[in-house]
Amino acid sequence: MNNDLVLIDEPHFIIDMMYARTNNMVGQAVYQDIGFGNQAYLVKAAAEKLFSLIPLLEKYHYKMRICDAYRPPEAHNRLLEIIPIEGFFAKDYQKSNHCHGTAVDVCLTDFEGNNLLYPTEIDAYEKQYQEQVLKGDFAAFQKHLIKARHDYQGASVEAIKNREFLKDLMESHGFEAIPHEWWHYNLKGWQHYPVID
Ligand SMILES: [Zn+2]
Repeated sequence: MNNDLVLIDEPHFIIDMMYARTNNMVGQAVYQDIGFGNQAYLVKAAAEKLFSLIPLLEKYHYKMRICDAYRPPEAHNRLLEIIPIEGFFAKDYQKSNHCHGTAVDVCLTDFEGNNLLYPTEIDAYEKQYQEQVLKGDFAAFQKHLIKARHDYQGASVEAIKNREFLKDLMESHGFEAIPHEWWHYNLKGWQHYPVID
């Protein structure tokens, strides 16, 4: 097992780390604030699995947007402080696969980098919910999070088709989905990798 981090720097992947910008659910560029910036790192095995997607991305004329990958524990603690909703950020950075370098938050885009349609944005981000959450009002956002689930069937046919296509693609290339966030994928075998600080 190799837990060195590898930088994802390849033209089929659009690096758009959401916590390095302010239009995210926490409203702060946390990754910039801690000096991490807009960089996507993963453990070598996970990076290799992502790179194994390139022939299929070519075939379908897609790119992949990466909105989170390795997350420094310090950043996780700040995110959790801002949004302490059960199940949104892991209660303990030890339990976040992002802090182990074994998780990615992704969606597919067209070749120009426009996101395909999904049931929600990544992180279920919407400005109105961000504003409510930052005032400490979590109820409406928590209700909205139902739409982030893989079993949510209320979205358009196209959005559901795209969500399922992404899931098939990731699960056939060494990743596993989690039920409550359509954009989040863990490397299979993540249990063997430690937190990286
Ligand atoms: Zn995630």
